[in-house]
Amino acid sequence: MTIIKKSVLSMGEMASGAKLTVPVYFIKGTGDGPSVYIQANMHGAEVQGNAVIYQLLEQLKRLSINGDITLVPYANPVGANHKNGEYTLGRFDPITGVNWNRMYHYDESQIDRFVETLTSEDQVEIDLQFQALLLDGIAQKLDHNQYGLTTGQRIAYQLQKMAHQADLVLDLHTGPISSKHLYCPEYAQGSASYFDIEHTILIPDSFDGAMDEATFCPWWHLSKKLASRGINYQLRRESFTVELGSQELIDLDVAAQDAKSILSYLQYKNVIDSCEFTPKEITRYACYLKDYKAFYSPMGGMVDYLATFGDVLKAGEPLARILRMDNYGDGDALHYISLDHDVIPILHFASASVNQGTELYKVFSKYFELT
Ligand SMILES: [Zn+2]
Repeated sequence: MTIIKKSVLSMGEMASGAKLTVPVYFIKGTGDGPSVYIQANMHGAEVQGNAVIYQLLEQLKRLSINGDITLVPYANPVGANHKNGEYTLGRFDPITGVNWNRMYHYDESQIDRFVETLTSEDQVEIDLQFQALLLDGIAQKLDHNQYGLTTGQRIAYQLQKMAHQADLVLDLHTGPISSKHLYCPEYAQGSASYFDIEHTILIPDSFDGAMDEATFCPWWHLSKKLASRGINYQLRRESFTVELGSQELIDLDVAAQDAKSILSYLQYKNVIDSCEFTPKEITRYACYLKDYKAFYSPMGGMVDYLATFGDVLKAGEPLARILRMDNYGDGDALHYISLDHDVIPILHFASASVNQGTELYKVFSKYFELT
């Protein structure tokens, strides 16, 4: 029987002095496999990842564990509790307006310095030294910073401190109204086929503040720099943002399926000692981040979303129709919206009423089969 250790991490304080805390679940592995960090709910309304962590723990407690596994539900205690009426907000820090998933830390300039002062070309030694450097960078931010941190930075850096200690990182999110999709660094696309997710966005090595980038970009840049110096190095670290469907929803049965999908990946990576998980035989499509396009509403109005997620929408077929009752009788009350090329719709805006310029849909504008 696997032992699951629980601890409570302090993330900050509210004005009244109330503590902001998150639960941390830890499973010690035998040490024969890579370690994993999994977090959920960094964006307040994206709650399904908490249910997936529940189902993962239910499975993990009966499995043999090789690598250490850290799981953090409710990763952002401010976002999770940020309600307005019946809705959860929690995508942006309400004080600064900054997206909660754009506050992680990475100093790209440290790569050159690190490689120049490297004393060993042994992979194990490089990994240890580089991980220590990343952790020291976070410690400097958290503990040796007399000008302080924003609320969001304090939360992000404490999560990142745990994530940097793992070889594999999964950040569980959802879209607004959305199909499942996976953000995967281009170099790790071979791993995408182990998740039961039909659509994968392949991302380049540029850092924009997100958890996945903050944990794979340093290692990717390091491996490129080492390769340019002729040093043999295997890039083994991987990070993914797993988009589990729509926000504001908990479905424990779907979560059980998603847990199996994650376990299939963890089994492939030898984190768990098992052969019971098999990825589904589905056609998987990929799209480069530059071709993952947002479609902004050309007008204000009331939207009837028509396109089905995951299916190819042919050129000229309607994505949506927009109702404008103010034009009824003396103008066009209905406007059909389409594109001049085939796309795969992945997600759409959560509300039916939109202003001109609202991000209506996100689609794969160019796609190919992932093999
Ligand atoms: Zn999110």
